[in-house]
Amino acid sequence: MSLSWSNWSGSVQSSPKAIEAPSTIEALSAVIRSAPGPVRIAGSGHSFTPLVESAGTILDLSAFSGLHGHDTEALTATVGAGTKLADLTHLLQSVGQALPNMGDIDKQALGGALGTATHGTGPELGAYHTQLRAITLVDGRGEVRRYSDDTDSEMIRATGVTLGAFGALTEVTISNAPSYRLHKRRWSMPIGDMLADFDAFYAAYRSAEFYFIPFSGHALCLASDTTDAPVSTRPPEVDEDGIATLRMARNFTSRLPWLRRKLIGNALRKLPDEDYVEDWLKVYTSERETRFNEMEYHLPYEEGAKALAEIIALAERHFPEVYFPMEVRSVKADDFWLSPFYQRKTCSIAIHHDAKQSPKAFFAAAEPIFRKYGGRPHWGKMHSLTATDFAAIYPRWKDAMDIRRDIDPDGRFISPYLARIFGIEA
Ligand SMILES: Cc1cc2nc3c(=O)[nH]c(=O)nc-3n(C[C@H](O)[C@H](O)[C@H](O)COP(=O)(O)OP(=O)(O)OC[C@H]3O[C@@H](n4cnc5c(N)ncnc54)[C@H](O)[C@@H]3O)c2cc1C
Repeated sequence: MSLSWSNWSGSVQSSPKAIEAPSTIEALSAVIRSAPGPVRIAGSGHSFTPLVESAGTILDLSAFSGLHGHDTEALTATVGAGTKLADLTHLLQSVGQALPNMGDIDKQALGGALGTATHGTGPELGAYHTQLRAITLVDGRGEVRRYSDDTDSEMIRATGVTLGAFGALTEVTISNAPSYRLHKRRWSMPIGDMLADFDAFYAAYRSAEFYFIPFSGHALCLASDTTDAPVSTRPPEVDEDGIATLRMARNFTSRLPWLRRKLIGNALRKLPDEDYVEDWLKVYTSERETRFNEMEYHLPYEEGAKALAEIIALAERHFPEVYFPMEVRSVKADDFWLSPFYQRKTCSIAIHHDAKQSPKAFFAAAEPIFRKYGGRPHWGKMHSLTATDFAAIYPRWKDAMDIRRDIDPDGRFISPYLARIFGIEA
């Protein structure tokens, strides 16, 4: 029987010889040593790049899940790397701890989120990998390695953004926040005002982002701050209705851009402002039903507004099929070697394209703009960069490659896609 694996958007299809789901470290070591290569580890398959694709073996590590221990004083928790974020939030809440921040969805496995430097928004909030305090991994020869921030801080920084190429993570210790509540607001405003007030917007809230709605002239702003106010319950989600409205406006007004602007403007005016208080784990994430493909670039923060203005002009002049909102976030700088936020405060701009249509032309036209402003691509989202490009934009690229070779000298985790990314001769 032939096996198949596909990512969330359907853009990556793979036919591995084996799909293995070991449940012990010994079994995992045996698979890494002897299963058909390349051995690629799958989280939840929510990356848009072919990181998990393998003609050899795809590894499912969901058996390595759950809360293994926690320290109430240090506010740390040790968890299986296969734990899904949706489960992790409840496990942490049950011991009075919380993730300091989250991205848009909670479907990822923790190991998968670490694999691509998954992030949320907030100028003082880092991506998930910045929470790492200890790592247990099985290397390319099936040996178990443990690194702790106390004794091996360099190794945590070298291997924390994994791309699934620095061993199979089985367990991690993460540092958390005490459980908290958030006051969340949503409102819309003209994009010109937002671009003029960009810095003030991000500086005003603990966590803020905005979506530019193509062909509308408007941004939808989301912001949250911690609060002691009582819970007031999150209103029902309307994101999917919004996407359907934008698609309809696109379909029926392709030759009448003024009508499209008017229809979307009316819909936005009718959208009620949102204002509620909820526990952290019920605020950050949403359900995403409509499948899309995505490109996201992480830019030096100061370049964000300029780059966004160019991307908007590009989409509205040349790509009338685009209807998904563009997401604009800010992320704190960190010091992980393969982190796109390495040593710089970041403005992240994400563009989306309906998964039923090819995103190639739009993304190919947008990418030079992102690159012109010094962007580094999200590891899990579509881009065209290869090893030479990465060596130029990651100051510790060579050091990271040396560590990768030490962890996986025989290239057991190296697929043709990773060989291209890392510049490894086939
Ligand atoms: C609807 C949607 C919303 C999204 N929202 C955001 C967002 O808000 N912010 C953001 O930054 N990204 C976002 N993403 C991208 C997503 O968070 C990343 O692509 C993430 O890596 C996916 O996690 P996953 O568990 O599906 O991992 P996969 O895509 O399955 O794998 C990602 C990488 O992690 C590796 N990996 C997985 N588990 C392990 C392990 N145990 N040990 C070692 N390596 C491992 C894999 O080999 C691979 O290289 C979104 C994606 C979608 C589809």
